[in-house]
Parts: sequence; C-alpha cells; structure tokens
Amino acid sequence: MDLVEFQGKQLFKRNGVPVPKEGAVCRTVDEVEQAARDIIQAGEAGMVVVKAQVKTGGRGKAGGVKLAKSVDEARELGESILGLDIKGHEVRVVYVEPASDIAEEYYLSVMHDRVHKGYLVICSREGGVDIEEVNRTNPDAVVKESILPSEAPGGELPRERAEDIMSRANIPDDVRDEAADLLVKLFATLVNEDATLAEINPLIRTEDGRVIALDAKVSLDGNAAFRHDDYDEWKIEGIDADDPLEAEAKEKGIQYVKLEGSVGILGNGAGLVMATLDVVAQHGGEAANFLDVGGGASADAMAQSLGLVLKDPNVRSVFINIFGGITRGEEVANGIVEATKRLGDFPQKLVVRLDGTNAEEGRRILDEADLPSVVTAPTMDEAAAKAVELANA
Ligand code: GDP
Ligand code: MN
Repeated sequence: MDLVEFQGKQLFKRNGVPVPKEGAVCRTVDEVEQAARDIIQAGEAGMVVVKAQVKTGGRGKAGGVKLAKSVDEARELGESILGLDIKGHEVRVVYVEPASDIAEEYYLSVMHDRVHKGYLVICSREGGVDIEEVNRTNPDAVVKESILPSEAPGGELPRERAEDIMSRANIPDDVRDEAADLLVKLFATLVNEDATLAEINPLIRTEDGRVIALDAKVSLDGNAAFRHDDYDEWKIEGIDADDPLEAEAKEKGIQYVKLEGSVGILGNGAGLVMATLDVVAQHGGEAANFLDVGGGASADAMAQSLGLVLKDPNVRSVFINIFGGITRGEEVANGIVEATKRLGDFPQKLVVRLDGTNAEEGRRILDEADLPSVVTAPTMDEAAAKAVELANA
C-alpha cells in the first residue's frame, strides 16, 4: 500500500528520520485557513506550504505544492489545490505544513531489490528533480548501492557504509554526518516497518544547516500487514478509493489489476497472464492491466472482461491469450464473437491466440466470423509482437 506524503512523514518521525515541523491535514478551505493561522500566528514559520495529498508524483509541477506568506494567501491556495486533478487523482486532502528554508536539495531512497535479494540505496546530490532523468543525463551523480540483508543485520545499516555512500554522492562535508545518520534511520524504517520503498525527494539541507525529509514516498508491503496492528489505519477516506476500473472489476468479481502500459491483457489463469506480461515486455510493450478471465471464459465473462479493459483510455490494443483446458477453444471463440457484438464499435484491435483444447475449432469460428477488430496469431510470441506493434501504431 502506498502512503501519501503526510503519512510517510509520520512514519519517518516515529522512526527518528527528521521531517519538518508537523502540519495539519485539511479537507476544506476553512481548515486550510485555520491551519495556516495556527502556524503563522504561533510563529512556527513565516510561511506555510500547501501540499496536495495524492498517490502520484510530480505534484509540484502540476501545481499541487505551493507556498503562502499569509493566511489569506493560504486560503486561496486551498481553493485552487483542493479539487485539482493531478494525473487522474482528484485532490481531496491537502497537508498544510510550516514552510522550510531550502539551501540545497538532495535525493535519497531505500528500496527492496528483488534481483539481488537485498536492498538498494540510491543517493544523489542532485535532488528535487526527476531522479531517473538525472540518472540518464548524468549517471555519475547518482550513487546506487546494493546492500545484502546479511550486511545490515536486524535492519542496522553500518554507519561507515552510510558515510561512504554520502561521501561518494558528494553530500557536502558539513552535513555528511547528519545525512549518514538519517540514512541509517531511513534504512531501519524500511526494514522495521516492512516497507518496500522509502524515498525522500528532496532531502534538504536547510538554511540553518539541518538535513530533513521535505517529501516522503513510502510503500508498505501488504504481505507483512499481519505483523503490523496499525496497518489498516493507514487507509484514508477519500484517498484510498480504488482505481475506478478496479472497483468495477471487484464488484463484478473479475480479477483485474490496472497497470501503466498500453497493451490490454486477457488470459485464463494467473500463471498464463503473468507469462503474457513477460512476453509483451520482451517485445518492447507495456501491459495496461492484468486480467484473468478465469475458468469459464463464457460469452458473458468475455464481454464483461473485454468491456472493462477497453474502457481504460490507455489501452491501444488487446492481447487475448487463452490456453484451453477445461475451457474449450470454441467456447472462448464464441465468447469473443458475442462480446464484440455486444460492445459495438471500439477503436482497438484484439489479437487472439488460442491454444489447447479445441483451439482449431475456436480459430475457425473466429476466422468465419470475420470480425474487423480481431486478428488471430498462431503462437504466443507472434501474438505479443502483433499486439505491441498495434499498440505503438
Ligand atoms: P512532488 O513534486 O510531488 O515531488 O512534491 P515535493 O514535496 O517534492 O515538492 C515539490 C517542490 O516544492 C520541492 O522540490 C521544493 O522545491 C518545493 N517545496 C516543497 N515544500 C517546500 C517548503 O517547505 N519550502 C520551500 N521553499 N519549497 C518547498
Ligand atoms: Mn518530491
């Protein structure tokens, strides 16, 4: 589960990772005004920052993070940010925090590294910007350090290791100790809280020489929820609404997970669907979803599943990958024919690969139906190539 920024900061705070002075979580313009008044009048800071709490990055660029010098100005920001749409996420909650004085912006993150069965620490002196972009244009400015669990027993990253990372990232001498301390605590946070990612961008050096996490992006591992009594308390009203298509799928009992790419994927059986994601990736495509039509693949199931996938505006082609077992090929083919009739016009092409029980008959049915939106392919590989080609066309 991804946390929003203010939750990430709460988690940091209780694990000793320094964050700005606590602010207030607001859902209305009046609450924003009150929060700003409290901060400014209490002399906590001369300015406040109003920050959209949505589970997506790049809020600053989208106008979701702004500074205010007065209570009135904060109120105006509340008006403009609440209700804003940031990459499809409606802002329902803002965090109003005492503003920090930034001298420099760095980047620091710790995450699970499945490939090396360990952890990965990434640190850069160039923060506050898109770190992947920095990595592309100036890879030397980004330190990537693999850490094996055995090298950090009990989640304790050795202090020398942290210092070494900071010095290789050219974090200035006078704040290096502090930054190394922070990294040790961030690492322990990831391990002890069962997070898969803890990212700080920017990690700042304040005008008065402190190092604090100005932003927080934390993902908690749902598989470890049983170890944390407070896990469910991180879910917040208005933010944790499912993706609308995922919600619709859940209601209909369809196994559907939305992803970021453009190739819609329908398969029968979770294993085959996962293999399909891989094949699409091998052909340079990116899956738009993960959808398991399950055992039946009847006309009804097919129409519902296909209807759902085609509703995703990112989907540019659909790869239907069916291996007939109990599900028979002709049943699936009839399902596809019926589903396309029910769905009417849609711009995307469907690439169908049928194998297994009665696959030949299934293919014959599809060929005879001569549907303009359907292309068949004999193998999974060819089907993937075709689907990717169509998605990129
Ligand atoms: P993101 O765009 O979603 O990553 O949101 P961030 O929390 O990283 O904020 C974006 C940018 O806003 C930061 O890189 C800072 O430059 C700026 N910013 C955020 N909070 C403050 C603050 O308290 N003071 C100042 N001066 N700038 C801030
Ligand atoms: Mn950020």
